[in-house]
Amino acid sequence: MSIQKIEVPADAEQRRAATPLVCYQVDQLPAYDESFYSRVRDGMVKVDEVRVGPRDAATFTVPAGHVFRIVSVEGPQVGDLNLWNAHDLNERFFSGKTRQLHASHVTTGDRLWSNLPNLRPMATITHDTLGWYGWDADGAGVHDVIGTRCDPYTNHMLKGVDYHYCCHSNLTRALAGNQGKATDEVEQYVHDVLNVFMCTGFTLDTHQYFMKASPVRPGDFIEFFAEIDLLGALSACPGGDCGSSHSDDVTVCYPLLVEIYKPLDGSLDVWEAAELSGYGGGHGMVA
Ligand SMILES: [Zn+2]
Repeated sequence: MSIQKIEVPADAEQRRAATPLVCYQVDQLPAYDESFYSRVRDGMVKVDEVRVGPRDAATFTVPAGHVFRIVSVEGPQVGDLNLWNAHDLNERFFSGKTRQLHASHVTTGDRLWSNLPNLRPMATITHDTLGWYGWDADGAGVHDVIGTRCDPYTNHMLKGVDYHYCCHSNLTRALAGNQGKATDEVEQYVHDVLNVFMCTGFTLDTHQYFMKASPVRPGDFIEFFAEIDLLGALSACPGGDCGSSHSDDVTVCYPLLVEIYKPLDGSLDVWEAAELSGYGGGHGMVA
């Protein structure tokens, strides 16, 4: 197969030299109110915890105004997180818009936004013990909103085998159990994830999505404040620390722990649950 020759225009370098602009005026977003969230964190009390087994997923609920943590226990392990409005599965985490509003990887102060037409913060990240990692020499960071989730369809396409414990299947099974429905009734609600603790980037030469061993260690956690009533599902990825492979039973995997905390009474006095988008609707359609 021959590749068609492409002419390079004479002003190619000039065109490439255009100034990059951050797409959204993110300084218009409500600022992260550090003093409010630290008041919430002070004296909060753990009220529940859910253990997520290796190569499996579990669901959990978090009332608006509560805090939840995803904690590394026993060994380095990556988690794939889905979030829904606890009262309506149609409102769910929108990783693509979260990426555009914040960055390819998220940390303290960033919010997890819901899908259109809702577009409101579902959760705010209030602590991240891996916040020190930043960007490494490979251009990688931690907690990405780039990748989707490992799934049996892509795995079948690439390897020709059926593997049932990809994050997509784990999340589907967990949601089916939570809703008391069959997997094919809920699979459509499983969505692109926050890759908790995963260390990823794009290769500098070919811009391909890559992973490397997660820097997470037992005791590390990422913490979220629930801005609305949440149903969450977390999968302990079959890739383990994602330093070698995924979508198989070869890699060493560990459990993850989800902890739910209730703030002290009075610390939410000035807070209100996030409101739906104020866009008036219609999309320009003339009646
Ligand atoms: Zn996975």
